[in-house]
Amino acid sequence: MEGSVGVERPLKLYLLPFLSPGHMIPLGDIATLFASHGQQVTIITTPSNAHFFTKSLSSVDPFFLRLHTVDFPSQQVGLPDGVESLSSNIDTDTTHKIYVGSMLLHGPIKEFIEKDPPDYIIGDCVFPWIHDLANKPHISTLAFTGYSLFSVSLIEALRVHRSNSHTNSDSSSFVVPNFPHSITFNSGPPKTFIEFEEGMLKTIIKSKGLIINNFVELDGEDCIKHYEKTMGHKAWHLGPACLIHESVQEKAERGNESVVSMHECLRWLNSKRDNSVLYICFGSICYFSDKQLYEIARGIENAGHEFVWVVPEKKGKEDESEEEKEKWLPKGFEERNIKNKKGLIIRGWAPQVMILSHNGVGAFMTHCGWNSTVEAVSAGIPMITWPMRGEQFYNEKLITVVCKIGVEVGATEWSLHSFQEKEKMVSRDSIEKAVRRLLDDGDEANEIRQRAQEFGRKATHAIQEGGSSHNNLLTLIDDLKRLRAGKPVN
Ligand code: UDP
Repeated sequence: MEGSVGVERPLKLYLLPFLSPGHMIPLGDIATLFASHGQQVTIITTPSNAHFFTKSLSSVDPFFLRLHTVDFPSQQVGLPDGVESLSSNIDTDTTHKIYVGSMLLHGPIKEFIEKDPPDYIIGDCVFPWIHDLANKPHISTLAFTGYSLFSVSLIEALRVHRSNSHTNSDSSSFVVPNFPHSITFNSGPPKTFIEFEEGMLKTIIKSKGLIINNFVELDGEDCIKHYEKTMGHKAWHLGPACLIHESVQEKAERGNESVVSMHECLRWLNSKRDNSVLYICFGSICYFSDKQLYEIARGIENAGHEFVWVVPEKKGKEDESEEEKEKWLPKGFEERNIKNKKGLIIRGWAPQVMILSHNGVGAFMTHCGWNSTVEAVSAGIPMITWPMRGEQFYNEKLITVVCKIGVEVGATEWSLHSFQEKEKMVSRDSIEKAVRRLLDDGDEANEIRQRAQEFGRKATHAIQEGGSSHNNLLTLIDDLKRLRAGKPVN
């Protein structure tokens, strides 16, 4: 048993994010949260991913936050040097190799931990081996998920439903049984995703607690109680982590380097009326067929509102021929929309958090990745939901059915992987209709906007002193110190 000194001494925490921007960005912010509260944090990643954490590292004293890199096994998995994270610029084969390579990090990370053990490991639940790293009695593991607790709870409810109905898939419409909200799905997730999500649940349940980049008010007390009761496990809501970035510059520099200058983007947005601009971005791993991009272009043009559209970097390169361009962008689109500054196309990485927090933005067309969702909520922006794969379909339900802060575009096809060509397209008419529902004036739009803004205020309060996430962080630090000292937690 450690004495009171053990309770005072900073926690030594190792954070292990999965090699994807949607996991590294929030865990970098969470590292900053712990470090700025006086705990000693080390983020473990690979050399080419170090830049994702540069901003976190420069924001706090290096005594409290540092980076340790372990080499990515490029040769072993057959990848060129430096390709170490999932992104829009890769393909299915490269995605698979990065995933395999990330699993092989187990060895070098274990070696590092054996030489210099921490008190706690906060490991991404995508890594099934995080508990194996804590092989000394005094090291414990917390799990981090890039999902909402709502989604984790839905995954568990669907798992139970499947095992009770003795089937691995649902091909017809069903209401999820034994769940605090009435959620209907027209089909269940594909089998490969079921295996992936059930693996994550196993990793989560073995941990001392689950760290969530969300705030209690958005997941809702009902969902949290349900999780604790059905899983017998504790979740810690510490977010929204994106709100720790206060200045416009910090928001603009979060994550990858933006392909547009902050000033150029701000100049464009500053010229727009409040709540008038549609922001369109489908996350860090975005793939659409040319035909689908063409429908998006037509849909937003027909809706007639101003827009910022983030298209995959592979599109619209300077050397793209007119013929190639016209496959995805209608003839004359740029003359009609870009030259006159009605729209802005960003080819590659956009400063998303900065854009969402600008007053000019009135709606966000999103793939419902959890970070994008919680960033929009934090900024009080209503969403047009267009899920593509995985838990994005669960987040859509939280946005549209439970919180009622967005409208569906009508995407129903659940992809197996990021670069899969969809069989069903979302039509220009569905896109136009969804945009008009949120950006044409009307009672429905006003009500949705008011609810979204109310959640935005709650999000801001959650991370401030006295707010739910701030209190959770202090209690978690205290509990972890007491646990380390062999004292009972409250
Ligand atoms: N993001 C960004 N600019 C882009 C694309 C993505 O800043 O052009 C950030 C976004 O703000 C979010 C993360 O990348 O923090 C994407 O995470 P999310 O969970 O939404 O989706 P994923 O990329 O994991 O599918």
